[in-house]
Amino acid sequence: MATLESRLVSVVGDKTAKVLSEHFDLHTVGDLLRHYPRRYVVRGELTDIEALNEGEEVTIFAKVESTKVRRIPGRKGVIVETVVTDGRAKLILTFFNQAWREKDLREGRQGLFAGKVGIFKGKRQLSHPEYLLIPDGDDVDAAIGDFAGKFLPVYPATSKLPSWKIAQCVRLALAALEEISDYVPSELLAELNYPEFMRALREVHEPTSAESAERARERLTFDEALLMQLFLVLRRLEVRAATTKKRAPRDGGLLSAFDARMPFELTAGQKEVWHEISDDLSSTHPMYRLLQGDVGSGKTIIALRAMLAVVDSGGQAALLAPTEVLAQQHYRNFHNLLGDLAEGGMLGGNALGTQIAILTGSMSSQEKREALGAIASGSIGLVVGTHALLSDHVEFADLGLIVVDEQHRFGVEQRDALREKAIEPPHVLVMTATPIPRTVAMTIFGDLDVSTLRELPLGRSPITTHVVAANSKPQHLERAWQRAREEVSHGHQVYIVAPRIAANDESDLQRFGLTPEELVMARALSDDDELDIKIPMTAVEELFPQLESGALHGLRIGKLHGRLSSEVKEAVMRDFSSGELDVLVSTTVIEVGVDVPNASMMIIMDADRFGVSQLHQLRGRVGRGTTPGLCLLVTNTDEQSPAMERLNAVASTTDGFALSRLDLEQRREGDVLGVAQSGVRSHLRLLRVIRDEELIVQAREVAERIVENDQSLNSVPQLKLEVDKLRQEERAAYIEKR
Ligand code: ADP
Ligand code: MG
Repeated sequence: MATLESRLVSVVGDKTAKVLSEHFDLHTVGDLLRHYPRRYVVRGELTDIEALNEGEEVTIFAKVESTKVRRIPGRKGVIVETVVTDGRAKLILTFFNQAWREKDLREGRQGLFAGKVGIFKGKRQLSHPEYLLIPDGDDVDAAIGDFAGKFLPVYPATSKLPSWKIAQCVRLALAALEEISDYVPSELLAELNYPEFMRALREVHEPTSAESAERARERLTFDEALLMQLFLVLRRLEVRAATTKKRAPRDGGLLSAFDARMPFELTAGQKEVWHEISDDLSSTHPMYRLLQGDVGSGKTIIALRAMLAVVDSGGQAALLAPTEVLAQQHYRNFHNLLGDLAEGGMLGGNALGTQIAILTGSMSSQEKREALGAIASGSIGLVVGTHALLSDHVEFADLGLIVVDEQHRFGVEQRDALREKAIEPPHVLVMTATPIPRTVAMTIFGDLDVSTLRELPLGRSPITTHVVAANSKPQHLERAWQRAREEVSHGHQVYIVAPRIAANDESDLQRFGLTPEELVMARALSDDDELDIKIPMTAVEELFPQLESGALHGLRIGKLHGRLSSEVKEAVMRDFSSGELDVLVSTTVIEVGVDVPNASMMIIMDADRFGVSQLHQLRGRVGRGTTPGLCLLVTNTDEQSPAMERLNAVASTTDGFALSRLDLEQRREGDVLGVAQSGVRSHLRLLRVIRDEELIVQAREVAERIVENDQSLNSVPQLKLEVDKLRQEERAAYIEKR
């Protein structure tokens, strides 16, 4: 008999165990049984090729007519193209960079093919389909019959070990597995109406019906959600159990002096959020809070007030920004807002004042040394910086608050690295302008309290967004440039955003020897980061001179991108902020946080190259003052393409939450959970944070109930064991990264 911990060798033999371990990283019976089928092929329900619809998930029984392998000139990659037929209609199967499939898919072979139907050059195709080939010479019915029950599981497979062989291994493992008691207590299971663990495990691999397979999958998905939420709920309790210095805002200090000169009233929403934060700061337990609010909702001022409160209590506060441009802007902005309050201890400075330092990677070592000295001595109250703040050389006299701006760019490790620079656990405020759906917040930031700014400050002007189809309506692009000139003639400023810094010398198309459509397909098919095929995109270095001598001739134009030195970047941003420049041609370095209220228009070139949230962030740079904002999304993409659909969605709403959801739905799970705890994440096989929203909410509720009754988890020993394993792995992953 085997347990989940048994080595696979004991069940499937040496050779197969080796393949499972090398190709799938599966070592134990438990690993294999958590290698879940992607889908099931239903015997006897084969699909007629002619009837397949685009976008449909299908399984067909068909015969291979031909297979060709094509090289991509100048690259390592190849495309395998197989034509299959049902005797009447044809379907093309494509595989990217999997030349070995040619041997598999020989002419005349028959099998089951499963995948999602796409249309390419007017022909139906499946890219990277799963398939089960009938062994040569076998009678077809007998062969399919051999695949066991009515539902044939389709596993992630390789040529070394195709899906049906994995199914055989799973069958052996299930047969050898001894009865395991369920780690979810039976009362809870009954209440939630889930099948027992053993039953779920069997049903997910060898379903007796479609419904029971579905229930089994739900139960196993719930398990993943429950473990993750238990982990997070416990982590949250632990962080909160720590004690630290109170940093309660008080009257008569720097904060009050700042309030007296603040240029505007806080909105009701800002006041509410400030109350939450000031309560947190008044506690002897560290604050651990996420502040989310759409672009332009006014998070910075809240952060600054919290930072000033901490300085009033004798401590220091640090703000971590994701880019140098943003760090510089915060630094300038703080100086502007504080005036002589930022010149504490200096001649002519305010007696209540403090000082601000900036720390970025590209500063000279002399500048750095000075900043580091002042930070360590405590003469500096407010520190703004990029990743450079995380370096070991940075020491604080008394770090009381960490603000992380635009958290989606940072991982938990970075948050933790800064926390370790404080003597006592610091208060932490994390800010994000990418509104996160509730369950994603629960998963990524499950250990944080959440405050949300829902309204934009009064007087904020609406942003109108239009899609400009440059290919089909070139006159609209002409009109866009003209419109930019009009904005400038009214005294406003314009951003022009392009996806690239510089173009390649030879066109990408020539380089790869592909047609534009083939390039798009190759990109879509490739999961491989190395395969960095790009279709031509507008580049700042090209567009800038074109506009300067052409459509925008006579205007004061500047350019900004990551390859410029930090002095140049800073000077350009300063000139644009102060109105010395009318137009800024830039890459996405201005994506987050940049705040120039006089900028009223943005033109985004090749807008289809950006994600939904990114476009929303970008256009948030305009409409910040009293003039309505205008954003033009310029694209060459097809009217009918999914990219156009995305652009239209962005144009149709300014609801950041709705757009963020749309964005997350389109991304791969790894990207969605990009900043989540790595150890926990690696345990997710089935759980998808957007799709499984209800399950996550349910798991959260159950996890909180369990922990509330018994924080030690002693009453649920098996669950405790699993959670402990997770925590150990998390710790190991953390240490490894340092
Ligand atoms: P974000 O939340 O995107 O970081 P910012 O904090 O940069 O937004 O704020 C956007 C702009 O709104 C800034 O120019 C800021 O000075 C201004 N602002 C913030 N709060 C208010 C308010 N209560 N009334 C008017 N303007 C405000
Ligand atoms: Mg901001």
